[in-house]
Amino acid sequence: MTRAPATVSQLLDDVRDVGRDARRGGYSRFTYSAADLELREWFVGEASRRSMDVETDRNGALWAWRSDPGASLERAVVTGSHLDSVPGGGEFDGPLGIASAFVAVDLLEAAGLTFDRALAVVAIPEEEGGRFGQACLGSQLMTGAISPDRALGLRDADGMTFGEALTAVGIDPAHLGRDEETLGRIGAFVELHVEQGRGLIDLGQPVAIGSSIIGHGLWRLTVAGQGNHAGATSMSDRRDPIVAAGAIVAAVRDVARTVDGARATVGRIKAVPGGTNVIASRVDMWLDLRHPVDGVAAELVATIVERAQVAAAAEGCTVAIVEESYGPSVDFDHRLRERIAGVLPDAPTLSSGAGHDAGVLAEVVPTAMLFTRNPTGISHSPEEQIEESDAELGAAALAAVLQDLLGANAKAGAA
Ligand SMILES: [Zn+2]
Repeated sequence: MTRAPATVSQLLDDVRDVGRDARRGGYSRFTYSAADLELREWFVGEASRRSMDVETDRNGALWAWRSDPGASLERAVVTGSHLDSVPGGGEFDGPLGIASAFVAVDLLEAAGLTFDRALAVVAIPEEEGGRFGQACLGSQLMTGAISPDRALGLRDADGMTFGEALTAVGIDPAHLGRDEETLGRIGAFVELHVEQGRGLIDLGQPVAIGSSIIGHGLWRLTVAGQGNHAGATSMSDRRDPIVAAGAIVAAVRDVARTVDGARATVGRIKAVPGGTNVIASRVDMWLDLRHPVDGVAAELVATIVERAQVAAAAEGCTVAIVEESYGPSVDFDHRLRERIAGVLPDAPTLSSGAGHDAGVLAEVVPTAMLFTRNPTGISHSPEEQIEESDAELGAAALAAVLQDLLGANAKAGAA
């Protein structure tokens, strides 16, 4: 029954056309969309091919379990990532971690090892927040970081609630929420992910160990002015919120540039009503701000608020700011990191500027991350890339880490 281990490229080849976005470029794989359901089927197929037992947990995460006879399901070693994408995202953000996990299972199998602890591959839904606007929704439900009521009321761009979307795919929304049973089975979680910056390019290394995730917040700014006619309103008689918004965008950049390690972005702006011959009455804009020190992030936001108020007032407008979410900085489990460094002595450690389910689970279970080099350094974009050879090195590194974590009790099975 021995099968040659699959390669990461072979696995990803099978889903290369799933969820391609002809309009934006790249992939739009929104949670519980037809593309996502196809990816979930692919997950189930790969699990079955490896004789792993598949289950869907209360919050919609897919689990594939590999346990040798007599192995304990308690304190299992868990690896995996997510299948969903941002709008027009890259091919590897998420699925690389899933494909690498299945290849790691193959590599352990091929080594003829059996373990006293179970190994699971997990796919956690709505990591990107691409459909319902809340990043890491699945893991936050699992740990209780978000309440089921708040999650159920989230709406997608078409107005469908998260609860309705769950019902449509046969997941009972009544069972959402902190899942003690599932959390109790996780002894350690290791997520492999495509690197989303240039760290490994600069270091000339294929794989890194994650050290931390920097704190990340999202704020909505509403700039209010006076809607009016673009032709009939003189230039001196305007309260134009788009002009104020432009000044605020520049202020955001200027403020972030003054502080080392800060990242601040306005990536989404909506003018209301949004007519070409209309002075807008309102602009909604979203600020994404990150810094490794939570106190510094708070100071940055306070400075941006002051600057935004000045910029709005200069145009006769007002600005209101609401925090939509904030995830504090996360330091991954030190003991687990040291242990992984022992298995991968050449791998550098890197901090992640991007958020991950691993950051949410780290609040509850020992958690670690591995990053595979991205030769463009670009992510959340079609230009995100992975070299085939790096992908295989990443999967081999993951297999070595899992083997170590699975056990002191590893024993050679009958070859
Ligand atoms: Zn990701």
